[in-house]
Amino acid sequence: MNDSPLALLGGEPVVTAPGPHFLWPPIEDADRHAIAAQLETAVSIPDRSGVIADLENALASYLGVRHVVTTCTGTAALHSMYVAAGIGPGDEVIVPALTFHATATPLFHLGAYPVLADVDDRGQLDLADVARRITARTKAVVAVHLWGLPEDLDALTSFVDGHELMLLEDGSHSHGATWNHRMTGTFGAASAFSLNGPKPLSAGEGGFVATDDTELYYRVLLHGQYNKRCRREIPASHLLARFAVTGMGLKLRIHPLAAALARTQLTRLEDHLTGRQVVAARMCAALEDVPGIRVPDLSVAARPSWYALPLRYEPAELGGLPIERFLDAVHAEGATEADRPGSTCPLHTHPLFRAPGALLPGYADRQDAVVGGFPAAEYVHATTFKLPVWSGANDIGLADAYTTAIAKVAAHAKDLS
Ligand SMILES: *Cc1c(COP(=O)(O)O)cnc(C)c1O
Repeated sequence: MNDSPLALLGGEPVVTAPGPHFLWPPIEDADRHAIAAQLETAVSIPDRSGVIADLENALASYLGVRHVVTTCTGTAALHSMYVAAGIGPGDEVIVPALTFHATATPLFHLGAYPVLADVDDRGQLDLADVARRITARTKAVVAVHLWGLPEDLDALTSFVDGHELMLLEDGSHSHGATWNHRMTGTFGAASAFSLNGPKPLSAGEGGFVATDDTELYYRVLLHGQYNKRCRREIPASHLLARFAVTGMGLKLRIHPLAAALARTQLTRLEDHLTGRQVVAARMCAALEDVPGIRVPDLSVAARPSWYALPLRYEPAELGGLPIERFLDAVHAEGATEADRPGSTCPLHTHPLFRAPGALLPGYADRQDAVVGGFPAAEYVHATTFKLPVWSGANDIGLADAYTTAIAKVAAHAKDLS
């Protein structure tokens, strides 16, 4: 195979299967039946009953937490989590400079400041940089398990304990990923997850907050689940129970049809994670010795969810071939779903983080929260591309074809210069 010329230069492509090569979530008859049945049962659920209770109970027992509250999106879950954690005007929350923007953007709606911290060479929070950014106003540090690869949660928990800060988690890539056999999303005071389309667990659109802290749970309800849920779930004797009818005024409930989809998807999540683990190990083994490519450096404590396989590109090993040209050649080989992360990028490059005051009154004079360079975040972003991680035994041929395509381009890199 590697003797054929590059497809970009007129040779035969490696991947011949027609696209799209990766579809998520996988829809089966169980999903169709669950949604059809839900359509006949209830399409609006104002309290914690029916499919909402089923899904929240199943998520709580899967993660091993006391409370789960579903929301309409992951962004809303993050918003509710921050409010419930007591983040307010003037507070600073340290977030990784390299993540999807919604990890941080809800803070702008609380008068709080996302303070970006650089990442290390693996793309994980650089705790030395986090330490430099702590001030008297710092309330919390947010861990994001990017691409489903768990952060070092031993280091993070002892770091936040040492600095008397709260740990919060954005588990939007890491459903079912574990650190030392414990679920990501259970290490912080609370965690927020997305259930958006391509995420490892999908409702199409949705999200949830998970926590063991009952007071925090009540505040999550008051933030986005007003009236019946608050009236039924917050004890009448509680100081905040009198706010139950209006809550804080926002309505962020998940749609019951979305909840029905997430519920059936959840029954198959472990199988998908096991499948992805096998395929990811196979892809990493195939790429390990390919020049110019670095597979993730995984701790033995980590079981990733493999939302994607992030690969690092080292142009110096391929005669300085730019990543864009390398990927053009990979795409020409038919591996069209190898791509560079788009919206998951260094946050300080977004206008909202550079000049929030232009959109959000009150932020005009305060841009120092993102001041400073984030050289590692920029470097990691500039040198990362990712592959889908398939979960089915039927997809192993496709996974092999993708890694063969990458190895072929690397072997022929000099033909592209
Ligand atoms: C998807 C995602 C979100 C936002 O979730 P939505 O459901 O799209 O609102 C937040 N953080 C991360 C890391 C994400 O990947």
